[in-house]
Amino acid sequence: MTQPLSFNRVEIDISALQANFQGIQKTVGPQIKIMAVVKSDAYGHGLIECAQALYSAGARTFGVAEVWEGIKLRRAGLKGDIVVLLGGSPESYEAVIRHELTPVVFDVEFLAGLSDEAARMKTEVKVHLKVDVGMGRIGVMPNEVESYVSLIKRLPGISLSGMLSHFPGADEIDSLQTTHEQLSYFKNVLADLKSKESGKVVSHIANSAALIYFPKSHLNMVRPGISLYGYYPDGSASRAKIAVPVLELQPVMSFKTRIIQVKDLGPGYGISYGHTFVTRRKSRIAVLPVGYADGYLRKLSNKAQVLIGGRRAPVCGRVCMNATLVDITDLPPVHTGDEVVLLGQQGDEKITADEMAQWMETISYEVLCLFGSFNERVYT
Ligand SMILES: *Cc1c(COP(=O)(O)O)cnc(C)c1O
Repeated sequence: MTQPLSFNRVEIDISALQANFQGIQKTVGPQIKIMAVVKSDAYGHGLIECAQALYSAGARTFGVAEVWEGIKLRRAGLKGDIVVLLGGSPESYEAVIRHELTPVVFDVEFLAGLSDEAARMKTEVKVHLKVDVGMGRIGVMPNEVESYVSLIKRLPGISLSGMLSHFPGADEIDSLQTTHEQLSYFKNVLADLKSKESGKVVSHIANSAALIYFPKSHLNMVRPGISLYGYYPDGSASRAKIAVPVLELQPVMSFKTRIIQVKDLGPGYGISYGHTFVTRRKSRIAVLPVGYADGYLRKLSNKAQVLIGGRRAPVCGRVCMNATLVDITDLPPVHTGDEVVLLGQQGDEKITADEMAQWMETISYEVLCLFGSFNERVYT
């Protein structure tokens, strides 16, 4: 979505994204491949722009959620493998084949349909088979793997090029034991397969959290998402620093607006809908043209802070659809048109997506998707 001339904009720092990719490559070592996860509009950072920048930084495998995202990437000219994490629908067989996408598979009917279409088009599609080792989400059960693998072998037009699984709690200290068990479960499945399969099958299970906290889970390929965009999966840079001292992530997204009015109010003046904030002293208030329609959620009312001139100012009163008020009484003089940072750095101060997530009672992932999808993006 673009809103030309909007007061608000999301800035994407492409060199930070590329540096994060390279930092991850350094962390896992040169033998391990990286699937750059760019699903959901690259977590709000822009699908095509980010995929192209990551390709320039060395990425050759990309992870998207749905087939249409893969098509968009191919239409933009992206090379490399594009793995579709949710697989496809029966309507998408032809598109999967024509755009050389690699669907994740976990369903017999899908495999059979894809095979028919590939045979008809006289070509071969690569697929990655997903195994559920305890996520309880997508994937076939470990005891079904053998029959799926032999089915894929029998079906014309289909070749198995990857095996994957996913952890439900790799970021949680309380789940260390469970994560270890799930990893060995997956490794057993792979070992069984290896004794029967000679082909080159890449195996992968590590999201950002596993990449950081479970080096044993790197296998042949890792699948970072949030860490590419500069955030530690559990919001704890300090815990990650101990696990992987070489990994120095830089946030990629900033969200900025500007002041459209400055006003002086006496004590006892109610601010915004419902007067949930009433001035207790002579106050100076700045009006910001941003609100919940821009992803700056109403939950932030009387809670969040913003940066003006490198200093923090608190949000006062309710966040409206397109407006937010901040108390600037304690700040040096500010003016209409001054830049306001809602997310990101200004001077020596910064507001991270983890801090925003606390105010919004969610995780950094959701903050980034939200801000990125509602606002004009500029690339620097
Ligand atoms: C989104 C996703 C990832 C990336 O997870 P992060 O926590 O963002 O690193 C990896 N694998 C799968 C299957 C995913 O859906």
